[in-house]
Amino acid sequence: MLRIGLTGGMGAGKSTVARILTELGAVLVDSDVIAREVVAPGTEGLAALVAAFSDDILAADGSLDRPALAAKAFATDEARATLNGITHPLVGKRTAELIAAAPADGIVVQDIPLLVENGLGPFMNLVLVVMADTETRVHRLETFRGIDRDDALARIQAQATDEQRRAAGDVLLDNSGAPGDLEPVVRELWERRLVPFEANLRAGARAPRGAVRLVEPDPTWAAQARRVIARLAVACGDKARRIDHIGSTAVAGLPAKDVLDIQITVADLEVADELRESLRAIGFPRLDHITTDDPKPGTDPARWVKRIHANADPGRAVNVHVRVDGWPGQRFALAFVEWLRADAAARAEYLEIKRKAEANAAGLTGPAAIEAYLAVKTPWFEQVYPRVLAATGQDAASE
Ligand code: ADP
Repeated sequence: MLRIGLTGGMGAGKSTVARILTELGAVLVDSDVIAREVVAPGTEGLAALVAAFSDDILAADGSLDRPALAAKAFATDEARATLNGITHPLVGKRTAELIAAAPADGIVVQDIPLLVENGLGPFMNLVLVVMADTETRVHRLETFRGIDRDDALARIQAQATDEQRRAAGDVLLDNSGAPGDLEPVVRELWERRLVPFEANLRAGARAPRGAVRLVEPDPTWAAQARRVIARLAVACGDKARRIDHIGSTAVAGLPAKDVLDIQITVADLEVADELRESLRAIGFPRLDHITTDDPKPGTDPARWVKRIHANADPGRAVNVHVRVDGWPGQRFALAFVEWLRADAAARAEYLEIKRKAEANAAGLTGPAAIEAYLAVKTPWFEQVYPRVLAATGQDAASE
């Protein structure tokens, strides 16, 4: 089962995207609907609210009078905490029930208006953010929802900013155009990314990769890596000592293969092996055929052993290296990025090698392409290894 978080500011078009995804076959879990359901007449939720806030919060027909509740519950921080203490666990429980009831091969879309505000992105396999500029949203809220302009603006300003949403979104869906513009975009996302992502996740398979190709540096690589790291952190819990963005995409301005390299630092190889299932469960299956980095000359090869995972999402290639704290490969990965960030000549030298490696892999795909690429890169890494350690103040002898 794939878990997709869907969010966006009021009037951006979440419900519209949710409808399209549902038509394509997604299982929709709508947090606004759940929030109403758990306090409907006859529920324990409504009874608890009455016990806390008195029956002044009931309308004549016995249903919840929302404005009356709001007047009481938003009056003080304590009252607000009481309200949340009643509703949040019920919403959480109902959400979990609905997700558990979805089929094993389901693509569950959780429509959560406050996903960004509540930091829920790391618990999703992917976050979709529907974007539209403020003026467009205000106009829609006035036209279609009868909310007056000042009220619409005030509500929009109380929510996350566009910048915060952009940082949280793996996929940004622009809905500032005509109503029909979104449908083909969402359909393509569904067919090309969500459906294969779900199938890969369920099978414990990585997504296939195309030819080895260097691309111009993407200024969003760092933010993309932060989202991946946040998800990995949830899966690893305290088994990860640290999780870092490493490799070329961690160096601003450097052309690179469009693959994010992430390093999870663990205490020992047993812990690395314990992470196997938890990483697979969030779409990072282990690649069993690779068990080590290339040991550098003069070091103990046993301390270059690592685990490597690749990801199931065909829309964003990620390699996750699980390395042991203090072993040379773990230290080198961090030092290499530090060296490149600090030294323009080092970046130029590395780029030249990457270009040669890319040329060597031209026309090849899959493992053959990687092999041809590495045939150029590996010898360079051997000669650069002592220089990186020296430049970053590390002692090769301690390896
Ligand atoms: P949200 O769920 O994010 O608050 P909705 O999907 O309900 O937003 O959209 C808000 C309103 O704007 C709805 O009445 C919807 O029909 C309308 N709407 C959505 N997308 C567009 C669009 N591209 N152009 C014009 N109106 C739109």
